[in-house]
Amino acid sequence: MQAFDYARPGSLAEALSLASNGRRVLFLAGGTDVIIQLREGRRSCDLLIDLKRIPELTALTEHPDGSLEIGAAVPLAEVYENPAVRSRFPALVDAASLIGGIAIQSRASLGGNLCNASPAADSSPALMVLGADLRIAGPSGERTLPVASFFLGPGRNALQPGEVLISIRVPALPANAAAFYHRFIPRNEMDIAVASSGAFLALDPGGRIADARVALGAVAPTPILVPAARDALLGRLPDADAFAAAGQAAYDAASPIDDMRGSAAQRRHLARVLTVRALENALRRIRAAN
Ligand SMILES: Cc1cc2nc3c(=O)[nH]c(=O)nc-3n(C[C@H](O)[C@H](O)[C@H](O)COP(=O)(O)OP(=O)(O)OC[C@H]3O[C@@H](n4cnc5c(N)ncnc54)[C@H](O)[C@@H]3O)c2cc1C
Repeated sequence: MQAFDYARPGSLAEALSLASNGRRVLFLAGGTDVIIQLREGRRSCDLLIDLKRIPELTALTEHPDGSLEIGAAVPLAEVYENPAVRSRFPALVDAASLIGGIAIQSRASLGGNLCNASPAADSSPALMVLGADLRIAGPSGERTLPVASFFLGPGRNALQPGEVLISIRVPALPANAAAFYHRFIPRNEMDIAVASSGAFLALDPGGRIADARVALGAVAPTPILVPAARDALLGRLPDADAFAAAGQAAYDAASPIDDMRGSAAQRRHLARVLTVRALENALRRIRAAN
């Protein structure tokens, strides 16, 4: 492995100053992607900046408006064990508890999962259907970006040089709403999604679909939102016909590749099946809460 310096700043200001000193910098949260990439020579840097001592990045906060702000470096196990996450945002539990196993989940973060920008990352579709925003800080100040605009290609995200992801803000769900995330892998655990789907549904007082979002993983160069699935669902009763139409939209939106995990045809098929089941499970969650 190539030699590099290591820094462990105790504040965001210190981290940003280290990141803008002209050296080739990489950030470290849990290290479950970046350490492997450095060791295998797939990435290189002059300075590795450890983010785990920065208060803004390690806090999990419920805001008075009901939104949840998750520091980018909070370990996944802390996310899915948090009572507010478990009761109000179970789709985050779906995603965070699927990533790796217990050892990985005790180190790895949502921020690292997003910034690594794998098309198959499990947290991305879940956070997209939850309508999450990303708080980003850099040399020219802070900005906010919807998570759906963050992914540019395999391994590429919208962070500019010297920018760091501070936190992920998940808005409160409206009444009569729920989300669900799941994936297909050929074994029970410790594998990367062959395809995945997240769904969000909100019902109006008459029981019709007032809002909906569907997102897919591992079927395109980035995780994708499927606007046509939303169009197919809005205003309809949440029945098998409506869900089948959204499943067809997911099938049509997928542009997968063949690789050792699965064929393009299998992934397109999975996009449809997983989307229908994600919608059914989101609906089940709404009904269970009423
Ligand atoms: C055995 C094993 C199983 C795995 N299983 C899964 C799985 O099932 N599903 C899945 O999605 N992934 C899986 N992964 C991949 C990995 O564990 C996840 O992507 C994890 O969430 C990465 O988080 P991390 O904190 O370890 O990131 P790190 O490795 O610390 O960082 C990842 C990347 O993001 C950058 N980065 C991290 N934090 C920030 C920040 N705040 N601001 C800017 N850049 C930042 C780093 O520089 C690096 O490029 C697995 C990995 C292993 C080793």
